[in-house]
Amino acid sequence: MNPAIKRIASDEKLPEAVDVVVVGGGIIGTCSAYVLAKRGLSVALLEKGYLGCEQSSRTWGWCRKQNRDRREMPLAMLSMDMWDAFAGEIGKDVGFRRTGLIYATDNEKELAGWASWRSVAEEFNVDTHMLTAAQAAEFIPENRRQWVGGLHSVADGRGAPEIAVPTIAEGARALGATIHQECAARGLDIANGRVIGVETERGLIRCDAVVCAGGAWASRFVKPHGVVFPQASVRQTAMRTRPMENLGEVLYCPDFAMTRRDDGSYTVAISGRATLEVTPQGIRYFRQFLPQFIQRLKAVQLTAGKSFFTGPDSLGSVMTNDPLIFEKNRVLDPDPNPRLMKEMVRNVSETWPDLAGFEIDHAWGAFVDCTPDAIPVISKVDKLGGLVIAAGSSGHGFGLGPGIAALAGELATNEQPSVDATPFRLQRFGDGSSIEVGAI
Ligand SMILES: Cc1cc2nc3c(=O)[nH]c(=O)nc-3n(C[C@H](O)[C@H](O)[C@H](O)COP(=O)(O)OP(=O)(O)OC[C@H]3O[C@@H](n4cnc5c(N)ncnc54)[C@H](O)[C@@H]3O)c2cc1C
Repeated sequence: MNPAIKRIASDEKLPEAVDVVVVGGGIIGTCSAYVLAKRGLSVALLEKGYLGCEQSSRTWGWCRKQNRDRREMPLAMLSMDMWDAFAGEIGKDVGFRRTGLIYATDNEKELAGWASWRSVAEEFNVDTHMLTAAQAAEFIPENRRQWVGGLHSVADGRGAPEIAVPTIAEGARALGATIHQECAARGLDIANGRVIGVETERGLIRCDAVVCAGGAWASRFVKPHGVVFPQASVRQTAMRTRPMENLGEVLYCPDFAMTRRDDGSYTVAISGRATLEVTPQGIRYFRQFLPQFIQRLKAVQLTAGKSFFTGPDSLGSVMTNDPLIFEKNRVLDPDPNPRLMKEMVRNVSETWPDLAGFEIDHAWGAFVDCTPDAIPVISKVDKLGGLVIAAGSSGHGFGLGPGIAALAGELATNEQPSVDATPFRLQRFGDGSSIEVGAI
């Protein structure tokens, strides 16, 4: 877990009734509470652990338009504008910095993929430049591999996983939202096919609408109500160094990704590399996830692990509708993969053999919640009025979180959506639509 995460207090009193209950205090749920409160609605934000405790504090925090799937571009544009605006609106630094991102590769195919993204860049007016091999090597030395080229996405940036969510939550609270940590939502109260409340571990809150932003738990949360949401998790590993020599702000190459933090330390990981644990949830949705699995086979280490027995994808989660499962799992905190950790340290050390002060402070694991096409679900639910799902952001929901939240808030309150919600509808997984796997 992220030991540096800022903690804020909860509101003492659970409201009896609000306009909207938001389930899940990650970046998506917290931004949902913020946008809804900003529109003058009454909102209660429920978090079973503490704010940001799962994916949103374990992320690298890249906020980018670069290489986004075309379907996500309107959300990415909206999100970047919202990231820019938070500090001014909230009156506090949420840690977002427009640092630019540097990419280098030795793989002609990867380089060609970046170059072909140019058409999307032009369509959405994204400031991005290809780098020659020599230019890429100025940022990341070629000691391990010989670059064929690179990329500089000028206007992208990074957020601060340890402060973003709690600070945006403070902003939501200043606008009237209430925040309830260690307060799991156990299930929905439903009458005549509509949500009329949320059962929590501290009692019922009546409401007109619910945004389910439960991250890796979202599918499990809606399952007892007959809603089928194909979602499964992969385990990722990342590390944080001690403050060290400045190598640049945000660097990507096939061997590692490094993200500088404001205190001079780096988050280190390897892009796309993950551990896929065989789970009952994975087996349940195996057919839907197969195309993505085949596409990413080389980057994924297949194992058996604890998540077969515990967590959202476990046997107990799939086989029962135990409403207490969320509070029995306050914080999903998987171990980092030691093999990947060793690889990261080796790759960085071989790239900069004379690196001063490169020491690992801590490492962590995290479950990233995915959909079969790696595009989030931001959707109303057929036959269950008042419920909106905003989850399945498939490893890129931190940067997109504000935009996902804005759209979820609009759907929950029947406002005209500011971006086209069609690509994100839940129904695409069950209505015979062809499923095209997006970029991670
Ligand atoms: C190592 C790593 C690197 C990443 N890098 C990037 C990156 O560079 N850029 C990027 O955009 N994305 C990145 N991501 C992905 C990004 O972090 C996630 O997509 C995003 O944080 C998901 O946000 P969320 O709000 O949906 O989920 P979460 O942050 O997981 O929040 C969901 C919350 O809901 C709570 N919850 C669940 N069920 C209930 C319930 N019943 N009652 C109450 N609370 C409940 C959980 O406790 C949890 O806190 C990365 C992820 C990882 C792990």
